[in-house]
Amino acid sequence: MTKQQYDGYKAVFTKKDKNKTILIPWFTDFLSPLIPAVAKVAGYNFVNCPKTSKQSAEMGLKYGHNEVCYPATLVLGDLIAEIKRGHYNIEDLAVAITQTGGQCRATNYLSFIKTGLKNAGYGQIPVISVAIGGIHQNEQPGFKLPIFRILHLVINAFLFGDSLNQIFAAAVARQRNKGQAELIFDKYMQQASELIEKREHKKLLTLLADAVDDFERIDIVEGKHFEKIGLIGEIFVKYNNYGQANITRWLREQGYEVVVPPMIHFFTQSFINSKVNAKNGLNRMNRIQKVLLPFFQRIFDKKMAKYQAILEKSKFHTPHKSVFEIAEYAKEIIDLSNQFGEGWLIAGDIANFSREGINRVVCVQPFGCIANHIVAKGIERRIKEFYPDMNLLFLDIDGGMAEVNLQNRLKFLIN
Ligand code: SF4
Repeated sequence: MTKQQYDGYKAVFTKKDKNKTILIPWFTDFLSPLIPAVAKVAGYNFVNCPKTSKQSAEMGLKYGHNEVCYPATLVLGDLIAEIKRGHYNIEDLAVAITQTGGQCRATNYLSFIKTGLKNAGYGQIPVISVAIGGIHQNEQPGFKLPIFRILHLVINAFLFGDSLNQIFAAAVARQRNKGQAELIFDKYMQQASELIEKREHKKLLTLLADAVDDFERIDIVEGKHFEKIGLIGEIFVKYNNYGQANITRWLREQGYEVVVPPMIHFFTQSFINSKVNAKNGLNRMNRIQKVLLPFFQRIFDKKMAKYQAILEKSKFHTPHKSVFEIAEYAKEIIDLSNQFGEGWLIAGDIANFSREGINRVVCVQPFGCIANHIVAKGIERRIKEFYPDMNLLFLDIDGGMAEVNLQNRLKFLIN
């Protein structure tokens, strides 16, 4: 092999690139369709890649390397597969990924995507890091999120998506006519996206109430008990159907309702984390943060209460706790300074499921995800002390994993 000097990634998203099409990888059915609408309000033309598929995994492995986390492989593969389909003029294209940072391999996603694009011959495509707060390790003078313009839209998009997904998950497990719940779900995601684009996010509450009514009317299997199974773990593999090897679909086919924690908790845990870190001397909150944090928290609590009030009218409703209650449950099991990967949320979610009478929980994590191994498997014994009826199944997922192997392990949990 000849040695080549690394000369960096030259393509930078500048101000003149603002009108470019910005491709984003598919994340999850109950949030991804809303992202382009929010981006449009922010002044950018985001376009979703098609849903993650086998081709994404193959492309990710071909142009990336297999020492990176499985979600990163799929994200890269989504982007390259879509670029290769040839629907876009490369010169008018940029790509964007979210940057959650963190103490793990998540910090390398940007450079991984850039290297992968370069390997595939697309090194001229600028890569944008989408993050609220600081952008690390990326030059992107043409991209800036107008936080105050989109904040309400973002919060409402998350709350709407989580709420719709929750009643959908219960309805789809019980529907008599296959496809009925899916049609309602798609219809309301589409309408939500249109409202967000028009900045009419206040109407999302009425839209959710309509969705609750529609789900109420579907024909369901009567007289059968549908047991609930909790699904927790790493954010991408938990919420992305292909990423989780279609575990949710398989469990539904076996007659179970799969319950996932709301995604918004992943982001609102920072209300708690920042206080814990300040108390532990790990960071300092400046005066602005001290004022803004409770302010955002209040906005958020008020909004969440409105969504919950609508959900409570549904026969499919499973109550969600606030992230503060989840933190209280987690505190008994693990210190809240454990914030790697999904951090203490895993302990809190398991405890919450147990308190809700859900005693079978699947925890999915990408193969080699040390962050989630430590906070998930590491607490198993302690969980058993507090919640002896809890049955936990930990599943590692990567590109080489056959779905049937996972299903065999799931059979032990459900039998
Ligand atoms: S949480 Fe796990 S899977 Fe996600 S980036 Fe970190 S190490 Fe990778």
